[in-house]
Amino acid sequence: MTTLLHWQTVPATMLNDLKGFESLEMEEWARQHGLPAYRGRQIHSWLFRRLAGSFDDMSDLPKSLRSLLAREATLNNLRLIDSLSSEDGTRKYLFELRDGMSIESVLIPERNHWTLCVSSQVGCAMGCRFCLTGSQGFKRNLSTAEIVDQVIQVKLSMEAPERLTNIVLMGMGEPLANYENVVKALRILENETGMNFSHRKITLSTSGLVPEMVRLGNDITVNLAVSLNATDDETRSSLMPVNRRYPIKKLLDVCRAFPLPNRRMITFEYILIDGINDTKEDAHRLCKLLAGLRAKINLIPLNPHQGSPYSPPPMERILTFQETLIDHHLTAIIRKSKGQDILAACGQLSGKHQSEDS
Ligand code: SAH
Ligand code: SF4
Repeated sequence: MTTLLHWQTVPATMLNDLKGFESLEMEEWARQHGLPAYRGRQIHSWLFRRLAGSFDDMSDLPKSLRSLLAREATLNNLRLIDSLSSEDGTRKYLFELRDGMSIESVLIPERNHWTLCVSSQVGCAMGCRFCLTGSQGFKRNLSTAEIVDQVIQVKLSMEAPERLTNIVLMGMGEPLANYENVVKALRILENETGMNFSHRKITLSTSGLVPEMVRLGNDITVNLAVSLNATDDETRSSLMPVNRRYPIKKLLDVCRAFPLPNRRMITFEYILIDGINDTKEDAHRLCKLLAGLRAKINLIPLNPHQGSPYSPPPMERILTFQETLIDHHLTAIIRKSKGQDILAACGQLSGKHQSEDS
């Protein structure tokens, strides 16, 4: 499973979509077409700041330039085919891609802002046993444009788009298995001349692809979340096959060396599954494993989905688990899953109409 192979799974027609261009690439595109660089910057601003959906929208560009763009460039929009609202305000968006495949993004209300959970692949190859996306297997990588466009289309659907301040790469797929496209999307999202999200407000979650985590730390500043989910290799390998390649010690060594800006911490996600990883011994082992790490822990009671053999532990056991961590001076938060009634919570994303699931 090399990165190159994954890159090649993006259909060629989607690789030159302008929504996947960084500012300098847009300037270069302008130069190659005999235009001054500032025209490139203007187009870039139309795409990512003014969220233009077509070249015709770019009203202050000369008509000749708009015709050139229409001839020589591609500008695709994800097609919104369904959106569902949860009782708690969470909104799930189902988007159709150009090749007919579909993905989901989830907009989550927080106290003063919104967080958008973005997909990075159609399906996922990692095969985690508790995850609906994983049970569907891997279809293909998303292009940079398809990742960025989830943010654009959701913003366009919002009444107050400026309140979308946080992005999490926790939707469908393993972001680090689609490394180049994801990192490029992060650059566009973070760039001041692009979508201008603060790197403090963007979090990438990984199941633990060790070599790519090292690369990521060198390439870009972003918050890191690691799906740990077990405290011994046997259990973790049975839940997450990736653990056979990159066992817990290797994973945590890389976390220890990960370049964190001042006062930032790595988030460890720990799904609590009844009878599998939820004992007091597990909690104690977790404390030992994370000793010396700048870590906070998100405890996620398992979100059940049809066909899954697992269930969440009773609340009492979840609270006991949390208390043990807190007693050891670890920050541990029980993450209430939002959007469960519309199958929008972590691990429930399928990229299909809900009616097809039932
Ligand atoms: N592939 C990446 C990001 C997408 S999964 C990763 O694994 O980190 C996002 C989060 O959903 C992960 O922390 C994963 O452990 C969690 N998750 C998957 N299935 C779940 C389920 N059924 N219930 C609760 N969380 C789940
Ligand atoms: Fe893929 Fe993450 Fe689901 Fe595992 S938990 S199958 S890595 S999406």
